[in-house]
Amino acid sequence: AARKKGSGAYEVYHPDMMTIAVNNTRMLTNLNQAMTNNEFLVYFQPIVKLEDSSVIGAEALIRWNSKVYGMVAPYIFIPLAEESGLILSIGRWVLHESCRQLSEKIKAGWPADFELHINVSVRQLMQPDFYGYITTVLDEFNLSPKNLTLEITESLIMESNPVIKDQLTRIRAFGISIAIDDFGSGFSSLSYLHNLNFDCLKIDRDFVSSVLNSAKSEAIISAVIRLADGLSVPLIAEGIETQEMAQKLFKLGCLRAQGYYFGRPIPLEEWDMPIY
Ligand code: C2E
Ligand code: MG
Ligand code: MG
Ligand code: MG
Repeated sequence: AARKKGSGAYEVYHPDMMTIAVNNTRMLTNLNQAMTNNEFLVYFQPIVKLEDSSVIGAEALIRWNSKVYGMVAPYIFIPLAEESGLILSIGRWVLHESCRQLSEKIKAGWPADFELHINVSVRQLMQPDFYGYITTVLDEFNLSPKNLTLEITESLIMESNPVIKDQLTRIRAFGISIAIDDFGSGFSSLSYLHNLNFDCLKIDRDFVSSVLNSAKSEAIISAVIRLADGLSVPLIAEGIETQEMAQKLFKLGCLRAQGYYFGRPIPLEEWDMPIY
């Protein structure tokens, strides 16, 4: 079981690849039960303006506190959930639960324009009722579409799948923002940017983490900053871990950021930074 080490810190289960393969079936059985056992949590990580470190929003990040494994990292169980289709119910839960929590905070005085970022998987976007579910949840909690940004990670089918394109069009027409997550890694390409409409770019942590010691990373980041400017979409730099990194990114022209330097993902009730 996960032993609590301090505020928001847990031991996390990181098995090696062999252990993953052997135990996949057993883990899937446990993952199937996780919802009914109330083992999921949503943590929130602040998204800030680099200019003054003020908080403009948060990214919701799921946590699985398993009775069997302890805290399981998303990179272990999200792929399992995607393969098995469980991501559909998990994704609905994350959306509902994080909207519920934000609405409590707004009732308690947080700004009504607080930006909530939620990760959605391509499997969710392929559901024809996805758009309808989101609007129902926003309605239930009296939130505006302006509160919500859906983060999607690029994948090959995105550009060509008509159901996905239709969902994204309706979602954006309603006023919800779409962010391209982990831009620069994986399947990202300029044709992808060309073929999809989106409202925000998040540059992958891998480029950000080497910006201080690699001229190449700096050149790539500068180019992505100019790209976002040219497309008139905000850019968020992920993975800012030090003040030096924050200052460097700001100097290069990046206005928004996220990372351990500003705040780790923690339960919303443990947030202690000022929200205006
Ligand atoms: P992501 O959406 O790119 O989320 C950012 C990840 O970077 C998070 O990992 C966050 O904890 C981590 N991070 C943030 N700042 C720093 C930093 O300064 N340094 C370092 N080393 N890491 C930082 P996390 O929470 O483990 O999530 C991993 C991935 O799992 C997410 O990447 C996202 O793709 C996926 N994920 C998380 N929650 C959900 C969810 O509710 N639904 C879906 N479909 N995927 C999710
Ligand atoms: Mg994300
Ligand atoms: Mg990301
Ligand atoms: Mg990622």
